[in-house]
Amino acid sequence: MQLLARRVDLIQPSPSVMAMSRAKELIAAGQDICNMAAGEPDFATPRAIIDAAYQALLAGETKYTAVDGTRALKEAICEKFRRENALTYRPDQISVGAGAKQVIFNAFACSVDEGDEVIIPAPYWVSYPDIVQFNGGKPVFVVAPASQEFRMTAEQLQSVITPRSKWLVLNSPNNPSGATFSSAELQQIGEVVARHPNLYVLTDEIYEHLIYDDLSYASFAAVNPSLSERTLTINGVSKSFSMTGWRLGYGAGPQPLIKAMEKLQSQTSGNPASVSQAAALAALKGSMEFFGEWRNEYQRRRDYIVGQLDGREGLSCAKPAGAFYVYPSCAAHIGKTTPGGKRIETDTDFVLYLLNEYKVATVQGAAYGLSPSFRISFATSMNVIEEACRRVLAACAALQ
Ligand code: PLP
Repeated sequence: MQLLARRVDLIQPSPSVMAMSRAKELIAAGQDICNMAAGEPDFATPRAIIDAAYQALLAGETKYTAVDGTRALKEAICEKFRRENALTYRPDQISVGAGAKQVIFNAFACSVDEGDEVIIPAPYWVSYPDIVQFNGGKPVFVVAPASQEFRMTAEQLQSVITPRSKWLVLNSPNNPSGATFSSAELQQIGEVVARHPNLYVLTDEIYEHLIYDDLSYASFAAVNPSLSERTLTINGVSKSFSMTGWRLGYGAGPQPLIKAMEKLQSQTSGNPASVSQAAALAALKGSMEFFGEWRNEYQRRRDYIVGQLDGREGLSCAKPAGAFYVYPSCAAHIGKTTPGGKRIETDTDFVLYLLNEYKVATVQGAAYGLSPSFRISFATSMNVIEEACRRVLAACAALQ
């Protein structure tokens, strides 16, 4: 009898996590790598949040808590939704887990039956399809290329809906493209969803605060209030407060689903770490004044990278409206040969060439379902970004 269950073969290790680990290994081994693979802010968690966590530990918040989050944290999350998104939730509609990733996993594990279809616009965050497949579902991809600014249209959505469609996944701002839906676009998508009463929407809003050029953020459930009972809104503190390592995310949605997710979590991880909940409570209740500076810095980096890469050495690089990634196309380099005589057949070859020959770590578009492209994170210092752009351009220029 085999040791491993068949369902393990349904998933791959997260390509972005792998790329980041590889870059860190090479740096630890003394190599001069520009690490552009990170999916996490390079800022420190704000001091006030760390202080609050420390005080909570001293006050004895070191024990088990309610499985899916303390009452105080759930109330703070409801208040956040009210204040920032004009959404009204009760604490029993909130699920708190060890990162948005766990909350998304729980949601699909509790609602996807064998063969249920989950519509995922591409490019997509690497984990959605694997989580769906692990739970017996079938990802259905809708490709939204650069020519439509990486935003799926309502017509495209309509064309893939079948009687087996269970969920639509939205992720705005998007990882890896930074594409951000306008309120009007969300409304058009909502109109299609409204015509299919068995379809639910998981809207992953974890990059909500990371939007540029004075854009205002539109949350799907706020734009489509009639769909609130069919919407699970996902968010967390990882990206907005630079708290990736604390592992704290949350979801808000239909109470029966939230209850099922609590049951699952009670038999898997139990509560998210008590100290992380205390930290998240301080983050959500505290001032976000620090964030303006972070946003300006991200925007400066974005403008620099796009200015360097777009239209140069065969690359085209759209300017993202949000998140901290650019997603350039490397189509012009497919079929070319490296100075070492290797043919670039795919974006994976291209990314390996950048890493091995020019010491720049990025992630291949194949991981995100839209090729040939690659993802560059600009959640790193301006010095590293400048050097990475120099190296990427030199690498492209050297291809024949
Ligand atoms: N959703 C998206 C779109 C992400 O990019 C990420 C992390 O990269 C997550 C969810 C997971 O966030 P968390 O750290 O809260 O698990």
